[in-house]
Amino acid sequence: MGFYNNIGNSAIEFDLTRIIHPVGQGAFYSESFNGNNFNFLAIYDCGGDKISIERELNYLAINRNSIDVMFLSHFHSDHMNGIPRILAKFKEGIKDFYFPFLTPELFALDVVYNYLVEGKDSISNQFLINFIRYFFDSKEKEIKEKDKKSYSNIKNVHVFKGERVVVSSIESVWQYELHRPNYLHTPTDKIKSLLLSIINEQGLVDSITKDYINEETYDQLSVVIDNSGDFEKLKERFLQEFKGEQNQYSMMVFSKKSDRIELLGGSPCNRCNCLYTGDVPASKSTINIVKSIDYDIIQVPHHGSIKNYSKDLYKDGTYAFFSAGKNNRYGHPDLETRQHLLGLCKYNPLVTEEPNSRVVLEYIFIGSQLNKVELINNNII
Ligand SMILES: [Zn+2]
Ligand SMILES: [Zn+2]
Repeated sequence: MGFYNNIGNSAIEFDLTRIIHPVGQGAFYSESFNGNNFNFLAIYDCGGDKISIERELNYLAINRNSIDVMFLSHFHSDHMNGIPRILAKFKEGIKDFYFPFLTPELFALDVVYNYLVEGKDSISNQFLINFIRYFFDSKEKEIKEKDKKSYSNIKNVHVFKGERVVVSSIESVWQYELHRPNYLHTPTDKIKSLLLSIINEQGLVDSITKDYINEETYDQLSVVIDNSGDFEKLKERFLQEFKGEQNQYSMMVFSKKSDRIELLGGSPCNRCNCLYTGDVPASKSTINIVKSIDYDIIQVPHHGSIKNYSKDLYKDGTYAFFSAGKNNRYGHPDLETRQHLLGLCKYNPLVTEEPNSRVVLEYIFIGSQLNKVELINNNII
């Protein structure tokens, strides 16, 4: 699938600016390409601290009114709560939007999680129930009129079900390879029993694990949760018992130059192919996929949580970056992860909400050569 089919051959000259945005406890990465006859913006995840996201989006929106492609790793708020801001900021919205498929059970789990963490009016839940749901549910023929209006500037939606797909985003120049290592993971019974312990009403649990939660069942859910006793205790138990479960289905994206090129020598940050991992667990299937990918730069999964750490994900001298909020309540990144990676990787910046933790990598390509790489001043914004 090509967005720009007429860009021409590999003698093209272009530059890429890759930014690891400082958004606190969340994840937001962008890649803007500029060439003689093209201009392209790709985003992987957009969630975190609201003020920081606003600032970063203001910068990206200078001279642009659309995002060419957006990839959403999974449906946790810290990866997606910036999406309504994107839609408000970029008048032409998002041209191609990719996200992973969920079963009704997993969808219910995400909605309940967001509810407990952010309350009924959770931005993420509005988006899930009023938009995303329609693309999972084969029974839903048409998006409701009011929802159509709210999300009309998301043009093409692509639900990623399988294991691997290549999106040739800028024909002959750049590709995005989508991977979902644990797509077969379906902890149905576990989910049902957990939901039942939280929601405490068999009928509702049956209905939301059979069908995708809609506005009506969301209202019922809210009444049941709010009447079921100590909200804080429920939340604690839920977070404890089900920690990390929803990260299982994270969609990874490998961003790479179409032809593998002879690169500048020296440090790995002089190379350009980047693997974005969302909050993916370090399972066997993840490790197998990562080992088969010839990446130069990698996002440390799940904000550097030790639970998602395996030395097998990393190569000697790699550039591995972390995104996490300063003093966040989850204790990300784990000290242990950082120490391991300090030994393994030459570069391992921690990007927080501090503007001066921003990482900006600028690459200039001429033909199939990468001619120049610069780490620009963090404070460009
Ligand atoms: Zn997550
Ligand atoms: Zn996360």
